[in-house]
Amino acid sequence: MDSDGRDPFVSMMTAESKVNLNLSDFAPQSMLRVAEHSIARPKFPAIDFHNHIDGLEPSEVLRVMDACGIEQLVNITMKPGTEGLESLARLHAASPNRFSTIAWMDWRDLVEDNFVKRSVQRLEQCAAAGAIGMKIWKDLGLRLRDRDGSILRIDDSRLDPLFARAAELGVFIMFHTADPAAFFLATDALNERYEELSAHPDWSFYGSAFSREELLAQRNSVFTRHPATRFVAAHMGEQPEDLAALATMLEAHPNVQLDMSARVAELGRQPFTARRFFLRFPDRILFGADLLPEESMYRGHYRFFETDDEYFDYPSHASRQGRWQIYGLALPDTVLERIYRGNAMKLLASSR
Ligand SMILES: [Zn+2]
Repeated sequence: MDSDGRDPFVSMMTAESKVNLNLSDFAPQSMLRVAEHSIARPKFPAIDFHNHIDGLEPSEVLRVMDACGIEQLVNITMKPGTEGLESLARLHAASPNRFSTIAWMDWRDLVEDNFVKRSVQRLEQCAAAGAIGMKIWKDLGLRLRDRDGSILRIDDSRLDPLFARAAELGVFIMFHTADPAAFFLATDALNERYEELSAHPDWSFYGSAFSREELLAQRNSVFTRHPATRFVAAHMGEQPEDLAALATMLEAHPNVQLDMSARVAELGRQPFTARRFFLRFPDRILFGADLLPEESMYRGHYRFFETDDEYFDYPSHASRQGRWQIYGLALPDTVLERIYRGNAMKLLASSR
């Protein structure tokens, strides 16, 4: 490396060889010099409403939470059905006030008789043990098959008793339906998430039985049919690429809250539109990370919400989502308080 931090070998390459640079070797360093703010703790105590810590040591998670001003963390157990109660008990023993648990829908006996009846019973058991909700993952609509081999529809009316019972029990249903728009397109030179999909070919749903639009429409019809049931649509309702459409969904379904987990990359590349969205729906969005609890990860979120910093890295898994940088939203205090904590507190209070 020379004094510019650049590899002299790369700098000396001929114009011809630059044309043939592999995309995977392209790692441009921004020459932009603009203000950078590091925010150690959020302006208001925060609740991480979407994380997965089944496999982590609770004391280590609490250490990170303390360092980063995370007052509470909601663990979405990935152990199906009542098996998740083991995680719930372990977290409750570690700290009864700082962890909550969302159960995970158990589909393993889907094609057996009385599946829905047993699912309702499992939901009852989870709620009785203290689970605040149940998550239904994207395998519904994309992979789960009915007895006849067809893909099970999200709005299959046989599932209605489950959603109705959730309302009676006072627990919510969290839906992660479909996935980013680019995951439904061919993994080719036009795909904005080409590198991510190349690294994870199994994340592609190109050619799925139901289109992304159909999946979201099926999910929305469940929202419509169960107005008394509270729903959380994870990952900005899987429509962060189209916040105008997401606004229409929210207006139509007052029983739905969003969590913004794992979508900072999408929100931060459209800071003007995203900021207007947050100001328009301050009561409908929950802070969540969906990333391994680490100081730098949480602090990246605070920088995004609280500053007007420009062109910086978004928090992400090891594999990045797309080749772009993000911009801070500089949200006002009234919005920050609700996103970080207030909206989650309301949902938690009504789920216990
Ligand atoms: Zn998640």
